[in-house]
Amino acid sequence: MRKALFLSFIWLISFCFNYYGQNVIQPDNKKSITIVLIIDGLRPDAITPDVMPNLYQLQKDGVNFTNSHAVIPTVTRVNSASLASGCYPGTHGIMSNSIYIKEFNPSSSVSTSNYKNLISIDSLKNGNLLSVKSIGEILHQNNIKYVAISSGSPGSAFLLNHHVMEGSGYLVSSEIDNGNHPAIPKEIGNEIINQFGKPPTKDKNLTYNTSVDWTENVLLNYVLPTLEPEVIYNWFTEPDHSQHKFGTGSKEYIEALRNNDKYVGLLITRLKELGLYENANIIITSDHGMNTDVSAVNIEETFNSGGINSDDYVIASSGETVLLHVKDHDKSIIKKIVELLQSKDWTGAIFTEASTDMKNKNDLFNPYGFIEDTFSLDLIHAYHPERKPDILFNFRWTSDKNKYGVPGTSYTLTNGKAGELKEKGGHGNISPACINNTLIAWGKSFKSGVAIKNPAGIIDITPTVLSLLGIKSNSGFDGRVLNEAFISGPDHQKIIVDVETISVKSKDNKYNAAIQISSVGKYWYVDKGWRK
Ligand SMILES: [Zn+2]
Repeated sequence: MRKALFLSFIWLISFCFNYYGQNVIQPDNKKSITIVLIIDGLRPDAITPDVMPNLYQLQKDGVNFTNSHAVIPTVTRVNSASLASGCYPGTHGIMSNSIYIKEFNPSSSVSTSNYKNLISIDSLKNGNLLSVKSIGEILHQNNIKYVAISSGSPGSAFLLNHHVMEGSGYLVSSEIDNGNHPAIPKEIGNEIINQFGKPPTKDKNLTYNTSVDWTENVLLNYVLPTLEPEVIYNWFTEPDHSQHKFGTGSKEYIEALRNNDKYVGLLITRLKELGLYENANIIITSDHGMNTDVSAVNIEETFNSGGINSDDYVIASSGETVLLHVKDHDKSIIKKIVELLQSKDWTGAIFTEASTDMKNKNDLFNPYGFIEDTFSLDLIHAYHPERKPDILFNFRWTSDKNKYGVPGTSYTLTNGKAGELKEKGGHGNISPACINNTLIAWGKSFKSGVAIKNPAGIIDITPTVLSLLGIKSNSGFDGRVLNEAFISGPDHQKIIVDVETISVKSKDNKYNAAIQISSVGKYWYVDKGWRK
């Protein structure tokens, strides 16, 4: 019953496609600029008038999407790729923070934080690191000048403009080439070093505020006045690191928030100085929220003691969500691992390839997995024909508060000692604290002083940016244009939103799990997935 209900609504309201989908607005001819600020790990509850007054003001004056979603797994590089491409990992192929590509390395997954790995995979895959086009390529085709500028890891920076070496705009990164040539093309990196010096080296024991300082100064005093881009994607590496290192709510975290906010204020001032303010549109988002990790699980030890041979699987970790690639996709091994996971109290929801048992001829897929009491990977947009895991599962999470009073705790993966953890930030989970990200739209094309509860997400940003620019792309985005945010758009209160919960329950009633999704037309967003 549930299955039929869930899948049939996708088709029943297909008449809404154009209403919610690839509409474009007509830009005027004045010099305009579109800026996307991505603040790594910024939970929506971090934006307060005391700590982030500039961002708070933009949120108040613009459109605040209060039900925004990060993509699953809720980790940085997956969401960086989804932001840039407007597609889910099941479409773009960056499945996790470490990904398994058999031809690249048959025996282990590879970290996507190293951009050189990404370049090698792109070459191996004939230019298809991502299985779809992303913002840099689309803007290049439309002769629009694009700059991606980032203080984040080289991998997350690279994914904002991964074909920059083929001429699709610019990439400025404090991390690329260890800061020796902090931009592509290299000549731009040399000019930046002449003017601003080499980017600071990150010290893991401190906040990364100095990297933010260097990068934002380059944005304000070189990128904006000299490169004069029409579109900028600007990534702040904090407060992600300070949360991982010191905890969400710590004084270092608060310092990082204040430092970021200072640059939001300076950006507004600079836009005014350069005569760009009146025609600016700014979207502010984060790639995920943040939990507090309270306990660690060593999967290899667990599997070893459960009789699973270590040669039979490869782990691709996203911290609080784990992807498993099983040797030869062997169904008996997949079943054995799933049953072992279901017997552990730290396991959350489990996902496998969709069951082929279709009861309704209009169904796109079955929401349940082919292994009993699992959900299908399609339900969380994680079925990629080539790169899909055989099993994906999240750890148990709670809404408990950490020692600073910030809600959201989780178990997480370790390759070291299992057991209790000191309260540090972590993410990756299918939990509200990780999925609920920041999404604010402010500027000349957006409504003013509106809070919108309709589901939206990081997936929608690039389709919305292209719509602002009047570009009708045929790239087949998974995300929608957030038309209800536009001054010329529909009344957000009149858009139909569906919320549905899909559950599994084992025969002995020992393993029960659920997934909640919210939908606008054909676009569905995963709100949470949990073990009951
Ligand atoms: Zn991140």
